[in-house]
Amino acid sequence: MSDRVKVSKFSTGTVQIRPEHVGPTRLPALVWLLTSQLWTKPRPINVYLIRHPKGTLVFDTGQDRMSVTDHQYFPMGLIGWLYKRLARFSITEGETLENGLLRLGVASGSVEFVILSHLHQDHIGGLRSFAGKRAKIIVDSAELKAAQQVGAVFDGYLKEHIFLPDVSFTLPDFRLLPPGVIPGFTFGWDIFDDGSVVLLPLPGHTEGSVGLLINYGQPKPVLLVGDLTYDANLLKAQIVPGVGNKRVLHKTSSSVLELFASSPDLTIAAAHDPNVLLPPNEGESNHESRR
Ligand SMILES: [Zn+2]
Repeated sequence: MSDRVKVSKFSTGTVQIRPEHVGPTRLPALVWLLTSQLWTKPRPINVYLIRHPKGTLVFDTGQDRMSVTDHQYFPMGLIGWLYKRLARFSITEGETLENGLLRLGVASGSVEFVILSHLHQDHIGGLRSFAGKRAKIIVDSAELKAAQQVGAVFDGYLKEHIFLPDVSFTLPDFRLLPPGVIPGFTFGWDIFDDGSVVLLPLPGHTEGSVGLLINYGQPKPVLLVGDLTYDANLLKAQIVPGVGNKRVLHKTSSSVLELFASSPDLTIAAAHDPNVLLPPNEGESNHESRR
């Protein structure tokens, strides 16, 4: 591989969630959702930009600013009330996906791949920016199925903001990995065929959740984990969040920890972890998180 792949991030506003959401909690999600009285401090809604010599990737697209400006963005009634209990957002004009990309010198039309860790509303908010453009939008099949189900809205899927005109989805090309190449993982998609950017299944938060491993085998690799955890230190302590399938979250977290053990300088970068510190990119000053 010629150049090191660059990883940057920016946030599309902030979100406050319930401490039980971050975990640990023994309560089922519906119970804490209905009873919690507390909010966390504002946390980021991260979008990651990955620049490979052969193409630019975006991992997650953040929260749509329309969700705070358009009162019809969320469903009405009971469902709308539940969404309000789950999370509260703050997104300024400058914090849209388009503006975040432009600040990093990237136009949405030049992006090759958009990878969605999963289809919850705070990860698909910028999808509209890629409608009718060249980017392949990668989503796992289990995720598409979950979003199309009756009652999907109760699981955090807002169909009307996912299945948009001129937006089509491409399934990841997961293949059996040679044994031991990526410790903890059996399947992956080596996107550029050089081992530098590998999509990995990370089920648990949702069945079709995926993550992205960048620069593995080089100094300071990065693993983007979406919502597998809200705090990498909790993941390292084997504490899982208060949402998702706990058994599967534990299993996937063990795989990530196996990978981490093989490469202790790995940065585990979640979507809403306020403490993500990415390795600096060569030739750039290290202020990628500034808005
Ligand atoms: Zn999220």
